[in-house]
Parts: sequence; structure tokens; C-alpha cells
Amino acid sequence: ICYNLCELREILKECFDGCTTALEDYNVQLSASLGNHPWLLLGDAHQLKQVFLNLLLNACEAMTDGGTITIALEESLDKDLVTISISDTGGGIPVDMLSKIFAPFFTTKPNGTGLGLAIANRIVINHSGTLQVTNGARGAIFTVTLPLLQPEQ
Ligand code: ADP
Ligand code: MG
Repeated sequence: ICYNLCELREILKECFDGCTTALEDYNVQLSASLGNHPWLLLGDAHQLKQVFLNLLLNACEAMTDGGTITIALEESLDKDLVTISISDTGGGIPVDMLSKIFAPFFTTKPNGTGLGLAIANRIVINHSGTLQVTNGARGAIFTVTLPLLQPEQ
């Protein structure tokens, strides 16, 4: 695999542009605090975009009566990792389903493929990162953690 220099805010902004129609269709507001400095990492921008698009689309599909997606970026204490959290105000995920949703073909949607999260998880792992899920106060929270490009790299 060939990884290039990527900037995370750029990738996320392109994802936001890519899901404008879905946001309108589902009546979903996007609240993103991307900070004002670049987040550099080595990766495949196209694949990373696919990860975030899948998570954004799933969040939309979880909010049939509209809602809000909140996106936040956070640096780890020793500045070697970035965590991107994507929270929604949908119904969340039943506890007994939490361990199953990353399995290929697991879906609760009539026309779902169940491949979105399996592919996203694989892409994140290939980038030496992790993809995790929890339930928040209102909906689901997906967190992607990726290694940041280090100054000496
Ligand atoms: P698909 O979207 O085709 O169903 P995914 O792999 O993207 O496949 O998601 C698998 C399942 O995980 C979904 O069918 C849904 O039950 C659950 N899920 C994913 N994201 C969310 C979310 N943000 N809120 C609630 N459930 C979710
Ligand atoms: Mg999906």
C-alpha cells in the first residue's frame, strides 16, 4: 500500500461536502470543530474519506426524525495520536449489538449491505489505527484513532 501525506481537516471537509445531500434529506445538522492547525498523517486520503463518509451516512440513517452530528478532533497527551469522534443524536446501538456491528454483512436495515463498518474498520486498522463505538447520552459515538505524522518522520 502506498501512503501519502494527508491533512485530516481537508479530508473531513471533503466528506462534509460529499454528504450534503444526505444531511438535507435526513434533516441533520453538522457541528464540527476541526481546530485551526493542520493534522498531518500518512495515509490513503481516498480510503480515509470512505471511512468518514460511512460513519456520517450511518449517523444520518440513525436519525430518521432529524438530529445533529457532532465531530471533534483531539490530540493524545503525547501528541502521537489523533482521535476523531463522530456522535449522533439517533437511537444508539443496543448493547447486545455493539460487538456485532463491525462484522461483514451485519445490518439492521432492510436494504443495508452491512459492509460499511467492516470496510471502515479494515481501512483504519491498515492505517495502524482503531475504530471504536460506544453509546453516548443520546446516540452512538464512533471514535477513530490514527497515528499522527511525527516531526522526525
Ligand atoms: P449498513 O449501514 O449497510 O447496515 P454498516 O456496516 O454501515 O452497514 O452498519 C451496520 C449496522 O450498525 C447498521 O445496520 C446499524 O444497525 C448499526 N449502526 C451503524 N452506525 C450506527 C449509528 N450511528 N447509530 C445506530 N446504529 C448504527
Ligand atoms: Mg452503513
